[in-house]
Amino acid sequence: MNKLANFSSIFIANWKLNGNIQFIKEYYDKLITNPNNCTIICSPSAFLSFLKNNNKNLFTGAQDVSIYQEGPYTGELSAKMLSDISVSFCLVGHSERRQIFNETNKDINLKSQNLIENNITPIICLGETLEQREKNLTKEVLIKQVNESIPNHSNHENTIIAYEPIWAIGTGLTPTMDEIDEVHNFIKNIDTRFRQFKVLYGGSVKSSNSSQINVLKNVDGCLIGGASLKVEEFNSIIS
Ligand code: PEP
Repeated sequence: MNKLANFSSIFIANWKLNGNIQFIKEYYDKLITNPNNCTIICSPSAFLSFLKNNNKNLFTGAQDVSIYQEGPYTGELSAKMLSDISVSFCLVGHSERRQIFNETNKDINLKSQNLIENNITPIICLGETLEQREKNLTKEVLIKQVNESIPNHSNHENTIIAYEPIWAIGTGLTPTMDEIDEVHNFIKNIDTRFRQFKVLYGGSVKSSNSSQINVLKNVDGCLIGGASLKVEEFNSIIS
């Protein structure tokens, strides 16, 4: 497991279903990591072996993992297989997986357990829809997601939480800085056991807002989708 406490901030690039070998070569040539921070590139699984881990706090992450360990599950990828190719982190329960692939909190809990057993840190994604926000249900939704998705044996050293309001993903919209800080504080206080967890913010992070977000008291880093596909933009976010 990575010593999460050692990093001042954690930045995660979520490339989603984008990229190819040429893109990765050019990206890595230009990527400038900050050794005080933890930088994680979550590429499509096909490229994970090709991505370079290095000693400068640059890590690889998967975007999903199977709930199964092995067996007749065509197309699946187990936590053990990810561990065999030195993957250190894995996104779990991204809103696109929850919404498009009908992933439940129970699936996310199981996947996270499998990852932890294989020394991979799950990055468990949570967040409300616009409709839930407008009905003032954000806190209720988060309590349920936290309690049901995070395994009992998760702790601040083996699990990361990412708060990603669904209405902010890919839209250019973000909550206000006060709202982000308040929600992160709320998540860390849902139960005393979450108090020391790293909680990252995701949803339309770009170079023009990342420093404002990242200095918030209860924000421990950012999860970046669209802006992470442009290496110059990502460099400026993580610098
Ligand atoms: C994401 O997909 O996790 C994400 C945060 O996307 P974007 O940065 O494009 O909003």
